[in-house]
Order: sequence, then C-alpha cells, then structure tokens
Amino acid sequence: DAAINRIAAGEVVERPASAVKELVENAIDAGSRRIEIAYGDGGKTLIRITDDGCGITEEQLPLALSRHATSKIDGSDLLDIHTFGFRGEALPSLGAVGRLSITSRVGKASAAQISVEGGAMSAVKPAALSGGTIVELRDLFYATPARLKFMRSDRAEAQAITDVVKRLAMAEPFVGFTLRDVTGGGEGRVTFRVEAENGDLFDALHGRLARILGKEFAENALKIDAEREGLRLIGYAALPTYSRGSSVAQYLFVNGRPVKDKLLVGALRGAYFDYLSRDRHPAAALFIDCDPHLVDVNVHPAKSEVRFRDPGLARGLIVSSLRHALAEAGH
Ligand code: ADP
Ligand code: MG
Repeated sequence: DAAINRIAAGEVVERPASAVKELVENAIDAGSRRIEIAYGDGGKTLIRITDDGCGITEEQLPLALSRHATSKIDGSDLLDIHTFGFRGEALPSLGAVGRLSITSRVGKASAAQISVEGGAMSAVKPAALSGGTIVELRDLFYATPARLKFMRSDRAEAQAITDVVKRLAMAEPFVGFTLRDVTGGGEGRVTFRVEAENGDLFDALHGRLARILGKEFAENALKIDAEREGLRLIGYAALPTYSRGSSVAQYLFVNGRPVKDKLLVGALRGAYFDYLSRDRHPAAALFIDCDPHLVDVNVHPAKSEVRFRDPGLARGLIVSSLRHALAEAGH
C-alpha cells in the first residue's frame, strides 16, 4: 500500500545519505567484493549503486520490492540476524519516495529489470547486465514535497553520503568502494576510492583505516583484540597524543553496523579518562561483534543506536581493554 510505504519511508529514509546506507548495506549483504556508489546533485536527483554480489532472480525482483519481503530471515526468529537488513523495508520505502529501478542478474540466467514509481510497480523486463545488481534511485522525495524542504544543500548532502560510505568502508575492509559524483551526467568524478584490502582481518582493517583516517592515525593506533562473555571487541584506538579537539574521529560499529551510541561513546571517553583533559577526544575505530540476541539494533529505524542486553558488560569490555592497551604502550 503506497501510503503506508510513504510513512515507513519517512522513518527509514531521512535524506539521500540514508538511502545510500540502506542500498550499500544490501550490496554488502549480497556478498559483493566491489561496490560503486554514484550520486547526482547531492543524491537528490540520482543515487546509483552497482555491485558484483549474488544478484536477484527474475522471480524474486517483484518480491524484493514488496513490504516485509526479506530473503534474510525465515520468520522463525526475528532476532537471529547476521546480515544488515532484516526488515524488508528499504526497497519498498525507497520505491514510495523516489523513482526506483533495479537491474540484476544471477549467474548465467539472463538479466532482468523492474521499476517502481509512486508505489506502482512495473512488469519485469529483460535487461542487459553481466552480473550483480544495479539499483538506481532518481528524484528522491519527488512524491513528498514536504520532505524535499528538509534536504540541505547539495554540498551538505554529498558530504553526508561521503561520511556514510566511509563508515561502511571501514567496516568492510575486504570490499572495494568507489564513490563518484556524476552531477550533470557522464562518468563524473571519483571522490573516494579504496581497493579491497588483503591479509588477515587486522592487516586489512589497519590498511583500510590508514586510507580513510590517514597514516598518522594508523601509526599512532593501538591494536585492540578482546573478548568477554560473548562480546568481541576489535579495532584500533589512537594514543592519547593523537587525540583530537572534537569527537569527529570516533567510529563505532556493532555487528558491522555503524552506530552513534551514547553508552559506547561514554565508554571510550571513560577509557581515556586518566590520559586526556576534558577538551581532548580520543580517536578510535572499534568494532563490537556478538550474538544478535545480546544486542537490540532495532531501537530506531535509522539504526544508529543500539541497546545491549548487558550494558555494563559492553562498557566494561571497552574501558578495560583500551586501558590495558594504553598501559602496555607505556601510558
Ligand atoms: P532487507 O535488506 O531488510 O532484506 P530490503 O528492502 O533492503 O530488505 O531488500 C529486500 C530484499 O531484496 C533483500 O532481502 C534481498 O533479498 C534483495 N536485495 C536487495 N538489494 C540487493 C542486492 N544489491 N543484491 C542482492 N539482493 C538484494
Ligand atoms: Mg536492506
């Protein structure tokens, strides 16, 4: 139902960057090794995600655009989620607030395309594509003028898209990402690119962080690798001497998902309490992974807040392992 989709869309999609986040997460879930994100006019006129993932079969294309159709859970256990998506809401929501088209190909089957505009779905048509999926979203919020007003300048929206892509790229060091500004048409200009990293997880993560956060961060970063009662914490935390004047260099992830969570930010601050004055902020990229039953990532549809079953455990893990690493480094 188009009206319900539009309401749901308001929660899932606040701005171009949130559409990019949903679509790139889908590409990651599909096992892609390379993902290209193109945007025009800050994502307002065009967002196009091209991936080399598993693709969507011709039969599944209409389903992918239907509400609460997700291939990622079987319905028996809503909490048992190991992939990003689980609510089956992103594509129908995007189809309700923009002109959406999906072209996809699975293996040797022929490629197919479907589009949806104003909530009305087209028939599935044959298409040409060598593999993977291309999702194109044009004219975001054209059907909901009230929302158009809330969008900021092209520049600000492009910046928000870049932030989202960089965060996702940090969490997926084995995936290559290209971000392209195609405003005005044509090939456009690459504004961010990282090749897939090699090596073990820590090598790959260190390499990726060096590319995104800079060499100086990487050279001043302590490796964090700890586990406590089912919570695993990995990542890199910078020496106090590399602290910043604001919290811009704090990147936190839970089960691969970028979060901005008060508890975790507070824990990070707590770990450096003895080392930093109030106006200095630690820099770190930290990843908590745990059984999905131990954390609720569904507090808000934009999914940047989380709720741990045992908040004290999460906090304690961060504070103790970072303090340990700082102490070992001679602080
Ligand atoms: P969710 O991600 O919560 O399952 P979405 O609405 O984002 O819901 O996507 C619906 C379904 O479409 C997914 O479950 C998946 O099967 C399919 N899908 C979406 N994007 C892709 C993609 N890039 N590659 C392969 N399958 C995809
Ligand atoms: Mg999804």
